Parts: sequence; C-alpha cells; structure tokens
Amino acid sequence: MDHDLDLHRDTLAVSLGRPTRTPGAPLNVSPVLASTYVGAHDTTTALGYGRDGNETWSALEEVLGTLEGGRCVTFASGMAAASAVLDLLAPGDTVVLPTSCYLGVSALVRSRAEKFGWVLREVDVADTEAVLAAADGADLVWLESPTNPLMEVADLPGIGAALRGRVRTVVDNTFASALLQRPLEHGFDVVLESGTKFVGGHSDLLLGALSVRTDGDGADELFAALAAVRHDSGAVPGPMETWLALRGIRTMPLRVRAAVANAGVLAERLAAHPAVRRVRYPGLPSDEGHARAAATMDGFGSLLSVELADGPTAERFVDGCTLWTHATSLGSVESTFERRRRWSGELDVVPEGLVRMSVGVEHADDLWADLERSLDAL
Ligand SMILES: *Cc1c(COP(=O)(O)O)cnc(C)c1O
Repeated sequence: MDHDLDLHRDTLAVSLGRPTRTPGAPLNVSPVLASTYVGAHDTTTALGYGRDGNETWSALEEVLGTLEGGRCVTFASGMAAASAVLDLLAPGDTVVLPTSCYLGVSALVRSRAEKFGWVLREVDVADTEAVLAAADGADLVWLESPTNPLMEVADLPGIGAALRGRVRTVVDNTFASALLQRPLEHGFDVVLESGTKFVGGHSDLLLGALSVRTDGDGADELFAALAAVRHDSGAVPGPMETWLALRGIRTMPLRVRAAVANAGVLAERLAAHPAVRRVRYPGLPSDEGHARAAATMDGFGSLLSVELADGPTAERFVDGCTLWTHATSLGSVESTFERRRRWSGELDVVPEGLVRMSVGVEHADDLWADLERSLDAL
C-alpha cells in the first residue's frame, strides 16, 4: 500500500505495517514462526534463514521507523540494540557518554571501554557547551534525553545541528518515544528505543530498535552496518515478541497521551505535598528542563522523579501504596515506581530518597489517592 506520509502519527501507528489488501486475507501480519525458508538458487533476493529477516519484523520496522522519521532495525532488546551501535567502534576510540543515564547502557559502555581501550568523556547532557566540547575529535556521542532518572533535558536541536556530519551521534529516545520527540529530524544519526517500554506497553516483552535517517550522508551505509550486526551477532527479536510489539504500537498514541496527561496532574499534586522535597518533571514550569522540553517535545512524557527525605522514607512511601507497583521498567499501561538507589550500581548523584515514577493510564484520581494516602502516613 502506498502511504501518504503527511498523515498524523496516530494514523500511521494504526495503518502502516499491514499486508497488501487481498480479499479474504487477514488485516494483520501474523507472527511468522520460521527458522528457515524454502531455498532459492539466487540467495540475494529470497530470505534463507531466520536471522536474515522476518515478515513480522518488517511490519514493526515500517511502523516504528516511520514514526521516528527514518528506517528501523529491530533487535532482541534495547540492550542488544545499544550493543550493536557500540560494535561499530574500534579499539582506542573516544566515546562521549552522559554522566547519568540508563544504567545498563553506561555499564556496558564502561566495561567495553576498559576492554578495548576507549577514551570516555562524561558530560552533563543539559550543558550544551560541555557536550559540544567533548564531541570534538570523538568517534561516538551517546546522548539520552530526558535522562534516567534525573529527568535532565538536552538541547537536541542545538546539539544535533552542531554535530551533524562531524561525529557519529546516538540518542536514546526511550523515555520520550517517537511520539514525543524525533532526534533524527534534528540531525542525529541513530535513535535507540527500547521497545520493551512504550512500544510494547504492557510489561510482557523485551525488544529493541535502532532508527537511522534516510537522507544520504552515509545513512544507507550505517543502516546496512547495523543490520549486519544484528544478522551476524544473532541479536534478533523473537517473532512472537515482535508481533506483540506490533499490536502494542497500534495503541501507543492513545496510551502515551493518556499517561502524559496523568503525569502532568500528578506532578503538580506531588509538588504541592509537604512530604515531597522535589519533583523532577519537565512539564512543571519550575523545572530546569521545562523551556527546552516545551520547545522541542510534543508532550512532557509520563516519567517523573520525586525526592523524599531519605532512603527509608522512600521505602515506606512505596510500601504504603497498593495501586502502584514497586517494580523497575517503565512505559506500560500500569503505574510503577522504584527507589533507584536500591540498585547498587546507581550513581551517587541520584539521591537516596529519589523514587522514579512511570505513570500509567489508570484514572489520575485513583493514582493520586493511593500516593496521597501513603505520603500522608509518612
Ligand atoms: C529499558 C531501557 C534500555 C534497555 O532496553 P531493554 O529493552 O531493557 O534491553 C535502554 N535505555 C533506556 C532509557 C531504557 O529505559
């Protein structure tokens, strides 16, 4: 089917990634459970083996790549996707990494840096001058915005424009998702999304995706290189997971919109509660990232962090809630939260009493009543 790419993202999420319309045929692509395909003598045109390609992957990649404004390769998980980007580096390369970002990514970069003699330059992503200075002579600039779990916001348009064509750049777009923020449009080379989060949206699968621009500038070679890493490393998504993610992405605009609206309501109420020391949410006018997020995002996201007095207080807070679940991960229909410092690897810059909250799509008043009851009891 030919698609008018001027359609709204809500429409694209529903209409792309469909089989050719054939009377009597299903509307949906099925989970194609195939490790091998009937052989062709010309191996350049037909799929041969399960690592080469899969119709279910292609359907999801069409939808997600288009929403990101590029072309997509899916992986077994967000970390498999991150690993594929790092696989393109050589020993001795220089990598710019946020001081505070998704722990799995920073741990992976650090362990590989040690093994392969990479030079690491750590930057505060909100400090644009520091990012640009660190990028000078680097081989890879890795950014995340908003960051986990401090919710810092980078100037993506400014950084993207300054670095385009100078150094390979990656933005981890998992917290915002393609619906709220599109780094490829700002000139970044690669966008990572953990499909485990908003794309799947139901806490029932792991999946990752990399999207790359379509407008030349080495983008075709980059896309081919990342697809080759997936093929050769075998970090392929399972067809069932891919199919669940495809099903999930149909309602992603509805879910994200509802969750963002809830997060806005809860951020304000939390900020007004005496037990809460600070709310980190770019949607609050008082937040350091507010102006940037307002200028570049289509909504402020459904993640926020609250700071309570100390670790034990934060633990009593999460234990006192019954509707919210204390669990890691984010971006699902159900509201979850976690005290980040329970992880031994979490950075010292993250306060002991910080609780990261992933707001779901339940009714905001029910979510608030649960939080308020627990806060009042502290
Ligand atoms: C979850 C997450 C990842 C890793 O994705 P997985 O699918 O869990 O492997 C990377 N970055 C961010 C920001 C995440 O939230």
